[in-house]
Amino acid sequence: MRIAVFPGSFDPITLGHFDIVERAYPLFDKIIIAIGQNSQKKYMFSLEQRMDFIKRTFKDFPNIEVDHFEGLTIDYCRSKNVNFILRGLRNPADFEFEKAIAQTNRELTQENKVETIFLLTSAGKSFISSSIVREIITFNGNYELLVPEAVRVPKQ
Ligand code: ADP
Repeated sequence: MRIAVFPGSFDPITLGHFDIVERAYPLFDKIIIAIGQNSQKKYMFSLEQRMDFIKRTFKDFPNIEVDHFEGLTIDYCRSKNVNFILRGLRNPADFEFEKAIAQTNRELTQENKVETIFLLTSAGKSFISSSIVREIITFNGNYELLVPEAVRVPKQ
């Protein structure tokens, strides 16, 4: 089975994330969208809310699983017996950052290499980030344009 883990904070999931998953969907037998939980980090949405947004967004995709983990992504991949990590690339800054992580992950998985598969953002989605969405939500702007329908927060 060809299984990929799509790791991230998803605080909250955006149309940029959705685009990457939708396009990767035909390439794998299963994609596990895994929320990496860091106890040091402050999030706008709780783990339960972020899981719920993602589950509802992909309710019609039978080969998508939603999960969460603490610790290193590659340890999570090992625990699930997964050989592929899926990541999206928006710009050169993403590329430089992701290159170092992907190469490290290959080093750290000596005998059973985990390969990172990158997809370039579709034109028109590359400016979207969870941090911009959070900023818009904080100031009561139209965040709805940037996120899947499942992501809705009551107006303040
Ligand atoms: P992280 O904290 O790990 O960066 P994110 O939830 O911000 O978590 O992102 C998870 C993945 O989604 C990363 O590979 C990131 O590059 C990708 N991603 C985020 N926004 C977009 C976007 N607008 N287009 C394509 N990929 C994106």
